[in-house]
Amino acid sequence: MSDKFDVIFIGAGPAGYVGAIRAAQLGLKTACIDAFAGKDGKQALGGTCLNVGCIPSKALLDSSRQFHNLTSHFDAHGISADNARIDIPTFVGRKDKIVKQFTGGVATLFKANKITPYFGTGKLLKGNQVEITGNDGSKQTISATNIVLASGSVPIELPFARFDGKAIVDNAGALDFTEVPKRLGVIGAGVIGLELGSVWKRLGSDVTIIEALPDFLGVADPDIAKVAQREFKKQGLDIKLGAKLGKAEVKKDGVHLTYSDKDGEQQLVVDKLLVAVGRRAYTTGLLADDTGVKLDERGRIVVDEHCHTGVDGVWAIGDAVRGPMLAHKGSEEGVAVAEWIAGKSGHVNFDTIPWVIYTEPEIAWAGKTEKELKDAGIPYRVGSFPFAAIGRAVAMNEAVGQVKMLAHAETDRILGVHMVGPGVSELIAECVVAMEFKGSSEDLARIVHAHPTLSEAVHEAALSVDKRAIHKGN
Ligand code: FAD
Ligand code: NAD
Repeated sequence: MSDKFDVIFIGAGPAGYVGAIRAAQLGLKTACIDAFAGKDGKQALGGTCLNVGCIPSKALLDSSRQFHNLTSHFDAHGISADNARIDIPTFVGRKDKIVKQFTGGVATLFKANKITPYFGTGKLLKGNQVEITGNDGSKQTISATNIVLASGSVPIELPFARFDGKAIVDNAGALDFTEVPKRLGVIGAGVIGLELGSVWKRLGSDVTIIEALPDFLGVADPDIAKVAQREFKKQGLDIKLGAKLGKAEVKKDGVHLTYSDKDGEQQLVVDKLLVAVGRRAYTTGLLADDTGVKLDERGRIVVDEHCHTGVDGVWAIGDAVRGPMLAHKGSEEGVAVAEWIAGKSGHVNFDTIPWVIYTEPEIAWAGKTEKELKDAGIPYRVGSFPFAAIGRAVAMNEAVGQVKMLAHAETDRILGVHMVGPGVSELIAECVVAMEFKGSSEDLARIVHAHPTLSEAVHEAALSVDKRAIHKGN
């Protein structure tokens, strides 16, 4: 007889595993199926985020930042260290330990919450059954009243630069180089290209990023993107905009790239090539032909605003559905679906999902951009404040960037906040809280912010909306 659950999650990334924990907390008999195997071949729960995404990339970003500070920034503080070296096996090994700690942590949480894990590939069958194919080929079928598809995403592959796992790699490969590539090519100046390009640049690679679009970081506010672009250039990241890759050939002496830009056809030889041109929803082998679950033109599972697929008892969340491909967005959908299934009122506010890019300087934003407000005909006022006038930032020798706040011209409600500078990954949280509570710039302006802290940049930007910033001309 097959095992029967209240809810089965297919996929144990931040969408599926968080949703499963919430479902179990609500008293639902819960199972979670995941196919991801770690370096030891054993099940590694946590999906892209914990295994080859957010956590390992931040581990390498932090180590490389420490090394870069030592070699490039500490002299300004009067600190010198001769012959600084980095040991790559230790650098990558530290990251692997962190990954193991966190994937193991999810297994422990599953045990504590009495969630049944299954190791294998889940396929949704008609009638809320799921067939699980183990990595050894064995098959079993389980069923549930509700099934949540949380199969995540995978890197997009370019037909003329196929991943070989050695010279041409995706994010997973670029987290596991065994030595610092002398010349690193990156296709795509998006989030992964900038974060992982920064990691290897800080350790000494010559990094060239080839970006098809003519504008840098089009997803961010242009004022913020401009500062970031200037800083990345200073750091030596060679970002070629409006450049289209035509060919990538692996030869003995490296990967030979042919790309075209406004000046015509160009050649570049690199030792490693990271292709980071976006990710696509992953649904291979997930759905039997007759389930009734639909995919959109981009291969994403079609859902309504409640993450429901339209098929009785079948839901979908995370990177596999519409919306930004962010871990916290998937997790919140997982929680909301568990609550809807349990008859409670789940909730995800898509208008206040924060974005963070963990480069140096960091980039963060939430809410609308000026362009979105202009296009929608919404009247707004802008306030901004530079970190150059923030005592704490200057004391840290990291006084680069600014906070920019957009508030409704009549109601003063905060509509968007955009930042580039030190610690903005943390500063954005205050603005998200304010926006979630439908706060105004005056609300933030009237709140006492500790001195000297980086958060004073948020306070001053809020004051500046009303042209009354204290430490700059208005
Ligand atoms: P995933 O994390 O992709 O998990 C899906 C899981 O389902 C996988 O384990 C997969 O093996 C499994 N699976 C798929 N199909 C099946 C099946 N049929 N049966 C069984 N199992 C299956 N986001 C952030 O918010 N912050 C960051 O800093 C950040 N950094 C990133 C850095 C990198 C290098 C990358 C690649 C991504 C990063 N992301 C970041 C994005 C983040 O990783 C994703 O948005 C997030 O992991 C999506 O969660 P998910 O649960 O929807 O899918
Ligand atoms: P991305 O969408 O951020 O960037 C891809 C870039 O590649 C774009 O600028 C695009 O114009 C460019 N591009 C596309 N095709 C190209 C081509 N043929 N030649 C040259 N350039 C090309 O995608 P990504 O960097 O692969 O990351 C995928 C997703 O993962 C992100 O969008 C984000 O949702 C998530 N992620 C988030 C974080 C974070 O939150 N800090 C970090 C990493 C990844």
